[in-house]
Amino acid sequence: MSLSFKEMVKGINPKFLDFYRLETLQVNLGDMCNQHCMHCHIDAGPKAGKIMSKEVMEEIIRFLRDHKGHILDITGGCPELNPNFRFFIDEVHRLTSRLMIRTNLTILVEKETDWIPQWYRERQIVVMASLPCYTKENVDKQRGDGVFEKSIKALKRLNELGYGDSYELNLVYNPGGDFLPGSQKKLELEYKKELFDNYGIIFNNLLTITNAPLGRFKNYLKACGQFEQYTNLLVDNFNPESAESIMCRRLISVDWQGILYNCDFNQAAGLPIRDKTGKILGINDIKEAIQRKFEIVTAKHCYCCTAGAGSSCTGVLV
Ligand code: SF4
Ligand code: SF4
Repeated sequence: MSLSFKEMVKGINPKFLDFYRLETLQVNLGDMCNQHCMHCHIDAGPKAGKIMSKEVMEEIIRFLRDHKGHILDITGGCPELNPNFRFFIDEVHRLTSRLMIRTNLTILVEKETDWIPQWYRERQIVVMASLPCYTKENVDKQRGDGVFEKSIKALKRLNELGYGDSYELNLVYNPGGDFLPGSQKKLELEYKKELFDNYGIIFNNLLTITNAPLGRFKNYLKACGQFEQYTNLLVDNFNPESAESIMCRRLISVDWQGILYNCDFNQAAGLPIRDKTGKILGINDIKEAIQRKFEIVTAKHCYCCTAGAGSSCTGVLV
């Protein structure tokens, strides 16, 4: 019988599953999205209904006012579709050392939301844009018909505004199926060449992220009879060197209701952070939570963070 993730990591060093310190607060504004991608680990889409309220945002803002200088990583769904998105970003962008927004790109060229790229630049927001391939065929297969064309249009708009040069634009790659990402450096070079040669597009960094066997991607794997095979692939490729750097040692994730998790994957898996009594912790408990060395909640999907070169929301770990 294979070891649990917890046993594997603790076998290397028991401290590797202790929360170390808060560097990044990741905030998930909800699961509303204008796309419906095959690999989505949170099952987002146009009909989703978990939307962070202004009240929860205000609690997060209060925490950030008292704890300035953290990295803030905004995600969703499509975060731009939260009705209070502008309010929230305007309140927090001066409180952080680095504000990153994860965008699906297509939202940046829709009629009602095409003001966003300029607005991002004015706030010097780091754009983290999903683009799982540089070919139309692969992007549309994974993310829906017409997504590639709109993504290219959005990237060109961002470049016109100085993104990829004076302002940071990073692309996020994830595999189009049940396999591990290739070398991040090699893929970045390929992306840079293909996007520049074919469309004149430039960007700063490519980040590769391993698909987590959760949400819609889990359903897809089960429907193809590949779930076991994929989870075994993650386990078989466990890389001890990546265990020390798993992102949850320096990151806390907040869901649409203000509940705290070790990461967005644990949100999708329904595994919140609890105190010693078993009480689920929320944003109001975060000051207390970050002061103690609590143990990270793990499960089998965690192997997606330690397979191969390791994986995190900011790319490979080793
Ligand atoms: S993967 Fe991103 S863009 Fe696609 S449905 Fe999920 S949240 Fe939306
Ligand atoms: S899935 Fe989350 S909790 Fe598990 S190792 Fe990765 S970052 Fe940590």
